[in-house]
Amino acid sequence: MMKKLGFGMMRLPLLDGNDPTSFDEAQVFEMVDRFLQEGFVYFDTAYMYHNHSSEAMVRRALVERHPRNTFLLATKLPTMYLKEVADMERIFKEQLQKCGVSYFDYYLLHCLNTENYATAQRLDAFGFVAEKKAAGLVRKIGFSYHDDAALLDRILTEHPEMEFVQLQINYLDWDSESVQSRKCYEVARRHGKEILVMEPVKGGSLAAVPPAAELLFHRHSPERSAASWAIRFAASLEGVSMVLSGMSNLSQLEDNLSYMSEFSPLSPQETQTVFRVRDIINSRIAIACTDCRYCVEGCPQNIPIPDYFHLYNLCQQETEDSKTAHTTDYDRLTSQYGKASDCIGCGQCTKQCPQHLEIPALLADVAKHFESGTSS
Ligand code: SF4
Ligand code: SF4
Repeated sequence: MMKKLGFGMMRLPLLDGNDPTSFDEAQVFEMVDRFLQEGFVYFDTAYMYHNHSSEAMVRRALVERHPRNTFLLATKLPTMYLKEVADMERIFKEQLQKCGVSYFDYYLLHCLNTENYATAQRLDAFGFVAEKKAAGLVRKIGFSYHDDAALLDRILTEHPEMEFVQLQINYLDWDSESVQSRKCYEVARRHGKEILVMEPVKGGSLAAVPPAAELLFHRHSPERSAASWAIRFAASLEGVSMVLSGMSNLSQLEDNLSYMSEFSPLSPQETQTVFRVRDIINSRIAIACTDCRYCVEGCPQNIPIPDYFHLYNLCQQETEDSKTAHTTDYDRLTSQYGKASDCIGCGQCTKQCPQHLEIPALLADVAKHFESGTSS
């Protein structure tokens, strides 16, 4: 049976934290090699990851250094960028070339939601990927999904040819009304689809849980990381064939390998612990941003939205001292990018946000927190 952990290539190690294309190549090579060595095979990239450079990194680290039949490669058609039919062929060809492969094992329509589904329907993106499959350029077709369970049900009913779905499932969002992890999972199961899981650690945020939650985990199994609980939660669900983890360094990867090499599902008691931890976290998180960065590119004010949300969240959880440190970080960012208060409320970002965050309103909170008392 295929090992259930997939390598997400969207948060790779960088040499310069401000430049998403400045890969620490030596470390990426080592991570890819270790992953394969331990018998894992699945790699997931996308057109826009790392400012459109993840696919080429995959070629250098994986495709050019390992036989094609030793791994599975997934990438995605960026539905949010499609304007006309010809865009699909152009992008697909570019992806084959950037990845240096003659076929993809899994090919996804990226980020279907109400708006992107309408685009995919208008341009017949479903027909496009089915054609690629018939031509042997893609082995399996599916889509990644970021909307509610009702729309998922509609898409799977209208497109039974889709073989798999990639869902955002983690223990924090499991019963959330906006993300609807559990409801979407149940819809996919009803339609008998293979399920791949993304964001099991919620953009890394479940790798570090508040001290009270940490204590619960620790009491149960002191040697296990917080991230291990999150990944095992997703991998324990029936029908889930793959859990993707966006690994950012060698030690994260080694941690993942340690419990996914010989995977054991959560026991009922462990599941209970996870839900108790969820309740603790839910009572403390201010902004549920996963740092996917889909909102950043189109912002006319060049506001680094997730970075501000991250700093704001840290301030809610920590001590007075760290608040000062985060304010300094905020000031450093505003010297290069738009301030939170520069937001003009155009709504471009909210349309892209898979977490359905009211970004302009939240930025107003951020501005109030970090900018009051400054000259702005
Ligand atoms: S609403 Fe504000 S943050 Fe969002 S894209 Fe417009 S200016 Fe940028
Ligand atoms: S605000 Fe939304 S779209 Fe932007 S990074 Fe966070 S989760 Fe992603």
